[in-house]
Amino acid sequence: MKHQETMLNTLVKESGLIGFSEDEIGDDHIYTGLETPMRADAFKMTDDEKKEKIAVLFGQIMDVMGLDLTDDSLKGTPNRVAKMYIEEIFSGLNPANKPKVALFDNKYQYNQMLVEKNITFYSNCEHHFVPIIGKAHVAYISSGKVIGLSKLNRIVQYYAKRPQVQERLTNQIAEDLKAILNTEDVAVIIDAKHLCVSSRGIKDDTSATVTSYYGGVFNTSTKIAELQNYLNQ
Ligand SMILES: [Zn+2]
Repeated sequence: MKHQETMLNTLVKESGLIGFSEDEIGDDHIYTGLETPMRADAFKMTDDEKKEKIAVLFGQIMDVMGLDLTDDSLKGTPNRVAKMYIEEIFSGLNPANKPKVALFDNKYQYNQMLVEKNITFYSNCEHHFVPIIGKAHVAYISSGKVIGLSKLNRIVQYYAKRPQVQERLTNQIAEDLKAILNTEDVAVIIDAKHLCVSSRGIKDDTSATVTSYYGGVFNTSTKIAELQNYLNQ
């Protein structure tokens, strides 16, 4: 607890948000950096050890809330949640799960933008641990190499499977694509619904959050218009 308070205080000081409570900061969805904040020893434990520990701890949360863990419907929940966290919804925290990406020569000599649009993803808000559901649109212009289309999808899914904030998700996808494709000419647009906004808190069911990254030649009004045109089709 002490450690968390220290971290929060540092964050508050750095962001100049002194005077705000942890609750208020949580609902403001502060974004502290490109990298997902992780400890240096994050992967000392094996996945099996993590699942075992999470199951115990999640069982304790349920127990504290007064749920009867001997009930047939509930007794398997701690293990199910632990398995789901490590193997599915937070599997993108582990670099070992990063998709292997092969590049191919641009044999077609296709030199215009390629847009992979409406990539559905499910992520989770790192401030509330409830879902973020959205669509990602990813575009790039080949610098000589091309990537398999399904790999664009897999890169989006990999970064979505972390506790996230939408700004970081957008930038992590963009930075990785730039490194993989060896080009600045990458664009990422994310349009998502945050359940922490729609199902609780302010309870706004109609709003959506849109974030974008326009790198290289995409950062011009003509390219942005061209990309928007593809997305509106
Ligand atoms: Zn949230």
